[in-house]
Amino acid sequence: MENMINGRTKVLAVIGDPIEHSLSPEIQNTICKKLNVNYAYIPFRIASEDLKDAVCGFKACNLSGFNITIPHKSNIMQYLDEVSQEALLMGAVNTVKNVDGRLYGYNTDGVGFIKSLQHEGVNVKNKNIVIIGAGGAVRGIAVKMALEGAVQITILNRTVAKAENISEHINRNISNISQALPLNDNHFAETCADCDILINSTPIGMYPHTEASPVQSLDFFNKNDTVVCDLIYNPSKTKFLLKAEKAGCKIINGWGMLIYQAIEAFEIWTGMKIDENMVEHLYGAGKQ
Ligand code: NAP
Repeated sequence: MENMINGRTKVLAVIGDPIEHSLSPEIQNTICKKLNVNYAYIPFRIASEDLKDAVCGFKACNLSGFNITIPHKSNIMQYLDEVSQEALLMGAVNTVKNVDGRLYGYNTDGVGFIKSLQHEGVNVKNKNIVIIGAGGAVRGIAVKMALEGAVQITILNRTVAKAENISEHINRNISNISQALPLNDNHFAETCADCDILINSTPIGMYPHTEASPVQSLDFFNKNDTVVCDLIYNPSKTKFLLKAEKAGCKIINGWGMLIYQAIEAFEIWTGMKIDENMVEHLYGAGKQ
């Protein structure tokens, strides 16, 4: 009867549309099972027009908490009782905790990314950072890196207006350290010349399009002191990361971010602390 759902089981969930691809149920249920805590974590595909009803239903059913993924991370905020300062700055909530019927919103994506870097011995304080892409994930990680003391954040994007929007938000609300530029192969090496941490946050190179890369001319990787990250974790080494690794750069994929955002959410819901053994167990599950 160990680890069985019973009358005392507390329910957690993840909502998104689509949701079938989400690894969160496996990660969270693995944590619950390993720690022998009586929670069950369930995926729900919720269309945008049903979001309000879903939140009301979760409250009525007294769910302990839930994660939110694409496309609801911003829209969810209007249905919550309180949202953390950091999530407000990021404009997105990915974790909700139910405390006596009041819903509290948090964002664990940014801290998840920072912790995945720290896991590899990398700190963002005083670092010059270049990010390729300006989608939903970037707002969270860029805001968090600015809060953690990065000295410069350059955002390169195909649609430069989106990069400008995030840069201006950081400059106005955190500190004046960000600039936006068009994603352009010709200027890429120049832009990265003094970069300490380079991050691909576009889906380019993700399975099954593993031959693709966000920039064609990766020859600038003749400087090997840049830490090169990709938010993608499938494949575990994108073409972008392989090229950087070959040039001698330290590389970090997106698996750690996925794990740490989940750990942070679990700790918010339960008040428990995940130990290093569990972290290593979860990291091991992502080795491909
Ligand atoms: P998103 O909001 O859809 O943004 C995608 C970004 O990629 C946009 O800036 C887009 O540029 C750019 N892009 C897409 N296709 C492009 C192309 N062919 N050429 C140039 N630029 C292109 O996505 P997101 O939510 O930010 O997620 C981005 C990536 O991060 C995905 O691979 C996702 O799986 C990954 N991610 C990983 C984690 C993790 O835990 N590891 C968490 C979140 C996200 P435009 O603005 O010009 O369209």
